[in-house]
Amino acid sequence: MSIEKIWVVAEATETGPTTTTLELLTAARSLASTVEAVAWGPNTAANAAVLGEYGATTVHDVGDLGDALPGAPVAAAIAGAIAAGNGPSAVIIPTSYDGRDIAGRLSARADLPVLTNITGLVGGDELTTQHPIFGGTEIVNARFTGSGPGIYVVRAKSFAPESAGGAPAAVAPLSVGDLGATNSATIVAKHVEEVSGPKLDEAEVVVSGGRGLGEAANYAMVDELAKLLHGAPGASRAIVDAGWVPYANQVGQTGKTVKPTVYLACGISGATQHMVGMKGSKNIIAINKDQDAPIFSVADLGIVGDVHKVLPALIEALKSN
Ligand SMILES: Cc1cc2nc3c(=O)[nH]c(=O)nc-3n(C[C@H](O)[C@H](O)[C@H](O)COP(=O)(O)OP(=O)(O)OC[C@H]3O[C@@H](n4cnc5c(N)ncnc54)[C@H](O)[C@@H]3O)c2cc1C
Repeated sequence: MSIEKIWVVAEATETGPTTTTLELLTAARSLASTVEAVAWGPNTAANAAVLGEYGATTVHDVGDLGDALPGAPVAAAIAGAIAAGNGPSAVIIPTSYDGRDIAGRLSARADLPVLTNITGLVGGDELTTQHPIFGGTEIVNARFTGSGPGIYVVRAKSFAPESAGGAPAAVAPLSVGDLGATNSATIVAKHVEEVSGPKLDEAEVVVSGGRGLGEAANYAMVDELAKLLHGAPGASRAIVDAGWVPYANQVGQTGKTVKPTVYLACGISGATQHMVGMKGSKNIIAINKDQDAPIFSVADLGIVGDVHKVLPALIEALKSN
C-alpha cells in the first residue's frame, strides 16, 4: 500500500527544474500512487515536460510571481487547496532557502506539522522519515501520528534522480488568494555568482581543502586541481570560518551534501560534521600527513603525506598528460 497523492514543491532556475526537485519526484514515485508538482515562475509550461518525465502527472502553477519571493504565495496556494479539500496526502519540499520559507509558512497557515532535515523516506500506508543526528553518526526514524497532510522538508542528494520517461505533465493553475501584508516583500536586486566549471553539489569530481593547507593562498592548489579534473572545489568548515573561501564551498552538516564519483580530501581531518556531507561519494581519496586521521576510515585510497608536496605533484602529472 502506498499513500494516495504527494505534491512535490518544484523549484527551477532559468535552465529548468533543479536537480533536487528531480530527486524528490523520483522518491515520490515509489511512495504514492499519484505524484504532482507545485511550481511558479515564468517557465512553468516549458518545465512541465521535465517534471512529467520524472513522474509528475500534473503541475499546479502558482503563476509568474514577478519580483515577489515565493514563500508567501506558494504556501498560501497550497494551504488554500488543502482547505478546499483538493490537496495532497503529503507535501514534499526541498531543503533550500525558498523551500524552508514555504514549509514554515505553509505549516503556520494550514496548522500542519513539519518534519525537517530528512535524508530518507520509507513508504507504506504512512511515510516514515529518516533524520541524521549527532553529526550523522545516528539515524532516527519519525512519522506523524496526527491527521495530515504532513509537510516533509528533504535534504538535497538524499535520492538519485531517475527519469521515469513520463509524458509532459498537465499544467493547472493554482489560485493564491488574498495574501494581505505577507506579500509586501519584493526582490529589488539579483546577484548571480560567477562560477566556472560544474556546481559543487552536481560535480562528478570534488576536490576539497581543509586547515592542513596551512594558509588561504594554498587553496589555489585545490582550485587548480579541481579545474584540471573538470570538478568543483570544496572546503571544510574550518577554512570557511577562517575566511579563506566562501560558505558556498563548504561541504558537511552545515554546508552542502555531495555525492560525486570521486571526492578528494586534502588536509581535512574527517570530523563527523564534515564526513556526513561527503561519505556517500563513490570513491574517496584522502591526503593527510597524520596516518591516524579519521578521514582515512572512509577513504578508498589514502595518501599519508604533505599536501604541499602531493598536490603540486598531482597537478604537475595531470598537466604533463
Ligand atoms: C554544529 C557543527 C557543525 C559543523 N558543520 C561542519 C560542516 O558542515 N563541514 C565541516 O567541514 N565541518 C563542520 N564542523 C566543524 C568540524 O567539527 C571540524 O572542526 C572541521 O571539519 C575541521 O576542519 P579541517 O578538517 O579542515 O581542520 P582540522 O580538523 O584542523 O584538520 C586539519 C587536518 O589537516 C592535516 N594536516 C595538517 N597539515 C597537513 C599537511 N601539510 N599535509 C597534509 N595534511 C595536513 C591534519 O593532520 C589534520 O587532520 C561543524 C562543527 C559543528 C560543531
